[in-house]
Amino acid sequence: MDSMIKLHDLQFVPFIAENEIQTAIDSVADRLNKDLSDKNPLFIGVLNGAFMFVSEVVKRFKFDCEVSFIKLASYQGTETTNQVNKLIGLDRDISGRTVVVLEDIVDTGNTITALSEVFKDQGCEDVKIATLFFKPEAYTKKIKIDYFGIEIPNKFIVGYGLDYNGLGRNLTDVYQLKSSYNMTNLVLFGPPGAGKGTQAEVLKQKYDLVHISTGDVFRYNIKNATELGTLAKSYIDKGQLVPDEVTINMLNAEVDKNPQAQGFIFDGFPRTEAQAASLQELLTSKGSEVSAMVALEVDDEVLVQRLLERGKTSGRPDDADEGVIRNRIKVYYDETAILKNYYQKQHKYFGVDGVGGIDEITDRLSAVIDEL
Ligand code: AMP
Repeated sequence: MDSMIKLHDLQFVPFIAENEIQTAIDSVADRLNKDLSDKNPLFIGVLNGAFMFVSEVVKRFKFDCEVSFIKLASYQGTETTNQVNKLIGLDRDISGRTVVVLEDIVDTGNTITALSEVFKDQGCEDVKIATLFFKPEAYTKKIKIDYFGIEIPNKFIVGYGLDYNGLGRNLTDVYQLKSSYNMTNLVLFGPPGAGKGTQAEVLKQKYDLVHISTGDVFRYNIKNATELGTLAKSYIDKGQLVPDEVTINMLNAEVDKNPQAQGFIFDGFPRTEAQAASLQELLTSKGSEVSAMVALEVDDEVLVQRLLERGKTSGRPDDADEGVIRNRIKVYYDETAILKNYYQKQHKYFGVDGVGGIDEITDRLSAVIDEL
């Protein structure tokens, strides 16, 4: 195993050797042989990444079985819809069959959840999930992973079928991204009016971080009447969320503008689980991760009063109307508050009392950040 390899612009170091992978596949295959000997299972590999795993699993399966492959091709929907995944390659009747989905890796679980729904709709008797690698920290879905080879932490890996921008699939060992620097990436969280913007301004100086406020970027675009601004305005004026695809693309572009950053303060992002997953992917590809979600906790009625007060001078239409303000708070509880769970599961959630003087609250936040 090479001590270090380079793919495109990134360096990778050894992580899991081939013999360890083979042992893990032996054990997955043993269990499949035991459970499915009389089921004539249909193994369905998810391309491209699963091709090596599929080959190794079916070589070890001792009973009748069939093998097929599918691919999820993502294409862009209209500007206001999210990315859509289209299933291609499913070329046979699967009703009444026992299907085993073979995946190279399960992280958030979006793919296997979507596939399992499609297969059940088509009348499969049983859908089992078998994956070579499983990232429990990233997994957000309920569906059971029936068989997995190796549990791994939330790292970006290549090899054994997995790629970085097309390269690395042919490696027989698995490598992980070498993190060249230690970034501090904070997600500043809390309902509208909790004081995220004010605190971000102080913290960015104190810790030398780049502050990205998605709300500010949208307002800048609205003011300059850009295409993005025009699109976002209709949602923002009603206190609704701008669609994920638009917001995610914008955030990625803002991060890419700052290649030298020591770290970021994300203010107003992520607001949905899809955004959180996408942020994780973006930072992982940079050899980094979210360090913590620090959340300012403030009562609803205090928020409404603060925002109405701010509306007298901020010039923000969404601060001027009590109905819109209450809708923004409702959207926060309906769509955004679930992210507390998302980061709690990763032991990265830190709640901080957001009522008090500005300095006092900065001290509370700093106490959390200094401990990271
Ligand atoms: P803020 O300044 O963070 O209160 O954001 C103002 C408005 O911008 C929100 O009410 C949303 O309409 C929109 N917005 C900001 N950030 C996001 C996001 N991450 N996802 C969707 N919409 C957002």
